[in-house]
Amino acid sequence: MKAISVFPGKPGSVHLADLPKPTVEEIPNGRGVLVKVLRVGVDGTDKEINAAEYGAAPPGYDFLVIGHEGFGRVEAVGTNVTELQPGDYVVATVRRPGHSIYDVIGTNDMTTDDVYYERGINLRHGYLTEYYVDDAEYIVKVPSGLKHVGVLLEPMTVVEKGITQAYEIQRRLKVWRPRKAAVMGAGTIGLLATLVLRLRGLDVTVFGRNQKPSKNASLLEELGARYISTKEIPIADAAKAYGPFDLIFEATGNSTVVFDAMQVLGKNGVLVLSSVTGGDRMIQVPADRINLEFVLGNKVMVGTVNANREYFETGVKDMAHAEAQYAGWLSKLLTDPVQGLENYAQMFDKLTNGNGAIKVYCQVSPV
Ligand code: BGC
Ligand code: ZN
Repeated sequence: MKAISVFPGKPGSVHLADLPKPTVEEIPNGRGVLVKVLRVGVDGTDKEINAAEYGAAPPGYDFLVIGHEGFGRVEAVGTNVTELQPGDYVVATVRRPGHSIYDVIGTNDMTTDDVYYERGINLRHGYLTEYYVDDAEYIVKVPSGLKHVGVLLEPMTVVEKGITQAYEIQRRLKVWRPRKAAVMGAGTIGLLATLVLRLRGLDVTVFGRNQKPSKNASLLEELGARYISTKEIPIADAAKAYGPFDLIFEATGNSTVVFDAMQVLGKNGVLVLSSVTGGDRMIQVPADRINLEFVLGNKVMVGTVNANREYFETGVKDMAHAEAQYAGWLSKLLTDPVQGLENYAQMFDKLTNGNGAIKVYCQVSPV
């Protein structure tokens, strides 16, 4: 069975590996689910793994099968699986439990362990292959009416976790009625964050670098959000007109924007950070003023990574809600399909140089 793999630590080492087809018996207690892979999305994390900046092979292997944004169809289930059956469409979660108390209670996205296990990223093979097997615990059903957009579920969960946690944190306020939100970044995560915030009824201002007209700006406007190019209007000026923001979701991949965001967060507001920035950039910031305003305004800033099963289930509901409210919008994010695992070079090319690509994905098998 073919699988797109890299040798972690060796830049540009993406290649096709050969692995035996897995079986449900590999999973204990009759809880195995064998999934035929249909589509797998790729993102900045895959780019970093192939650039040898991130990722590790599973014990006993010198390569890592990449791909953590899977979508597939159940082919077989173990004797103890009642919640899924062959033919069901599914997406598997990414992180697997470690040993901290958070892992023990099923919230391994909140692990405090130093080592974490993520399929397709760290120490566990991923989904860019023909079949995978896993415990039913980690496999989430997607209604067949969403199969055309199911490959977007994993990136959607990253957004769901950040926004759910923001609302959870704001229960400290007894009454929190957020009205205005900002999203920093108009890439895939920024687009999905805007969707989820619009579904929650917020007025959303999105900041991006590119000037209009652009595909991403039009997609945001279709949701009733406002797009601002920071080349035309500085964040601080736009915040005077459209803020102050009760919630800000940062998804630019540029750590300096975090400090801009801190300065336009409203009183009692919450700022969610989701960019994984591996560099070592240094900047000057008005530290006294930022601190003072955070203190006097009772503001919160929170980091968010990964997502557990709960957010996959919320993501499915929001995707259904999105199809009802903004019919066809999600499909427009699926800009760049690549046919077949053997075309991995083309896939990385689109991911790296993708002119206006929103979601690059591998069509492993017809949906
Ligand atoms: C994935 C997350 C993962 C994170 C850090 C992201 O690209 O979507 O599931 O936790 O990378 O490895
Ligand atoms: Zn990802």
